[in-house]
Amino acid sequence: MLSRRYLIAAAMAVGLAGPAFAQDAAPATKLPVVASFSILGDFVKEVGGDRIAVSTLVGPNGDAHVFQPAPADAKKVAAAKVVFVNGLGFEGWMNRLIKASGTKATIVVATKGVAPRKMEEEEGGHDHGKDAHAHEETDPHAWQSVANAKLYVANVRDGLIAADPAGKATYEANATAYLAKLDALDAEVKAAIATIPAERRRIITSHDAFGYFGAAYGMEFIAPQGVSTEAEASAKDVAKIIRQIKTEKIPAVFMENISDPRLVKRIADETGAKIGGEVYSDALSDDKGPASTYIDMIENNIRAFSSALSS
Ligand code: ZN
Repeated sequence: MLSRRYLIAAAMAVGLAGPAFAQDAAPATKLPVVASFSILGDFVKEVGGDRIAVSTLVGPNGDAHVFQPAPADAKKVAAAKVVFVNGLGFEGWMNRLIKASGTKATIVVATKGVAPRKMEEEEGGHDHGKDAHAHEETDPHAWQSVANAKLYVANVRDGLIAADPAGKATYEANATAYLAKLDALDAEVKAAIATIPAERRRIITSHDAFGYFGAAYGMEFIAPQGVSTEAEASAKDVAKIIRQIKTEKIPAVFMENISDPRLVKRIADETGAKIGGEVYSDALSDDKGPASTYIDMIENNIRAFSSALSS
């Protein structure tokens, strides 16, 4: 078996032999950029508009926590002038990919300026035969608060202007128009949550992806898996959540587009909690789905939360 590293290196050699992007890009040439995952890719498209060509590494319904880059991804990164990443530990595979690609791209961390949520987490999934070892983890899902999404957009705008100063006016105008839409979206979320009785604003999801949403809008999210999907939920964690749903009468559990629905279905079966449908945590849907843009994603999620919890 060839190692992944070797495959990436081989792909790079092929890539270098192929057509390269012109160093002195004419205005007609779109700026090649990469976004690590679909939600960030949507922000980049909104701000970059016609001046850029965006490649997204982790596509619709993909799970960035456990993504394994392919040789084609190294080629995209190698060809990019700017690579946009979430940061906060979301893309554990990114540094190795950037290194393997040999790219000269500027790396823009889209969460710059976000106040990170830190979580105390027990190590799940493994029985170490001794007391569970608690450690602090950073929650990477900052985009779930619309206020944070505005920081992403500002960082994307500044990154594009730095890479393509000739497009400054376009990037600023696009960002300003989109930021206004995000302000309207933020108000929409607050209005929707306000219709849910306070004592019913508690939700189970499979992994802990909605902490920033909960903190921003006053809802509590509980998840058997931690802030990453890498480790399976332990039997102990699942049992604990089942007890919690019963004693606290948590009304609804939600499936996520990126996760296996079986765990959530099992929890619903064992507790009688209702399945509130599918929500979008770490990735957009494809074009035919209900959440192919960030704005549609947030609107889909608040519709799902409201309809499951309001009555
Ligand atoms: Zn996640």
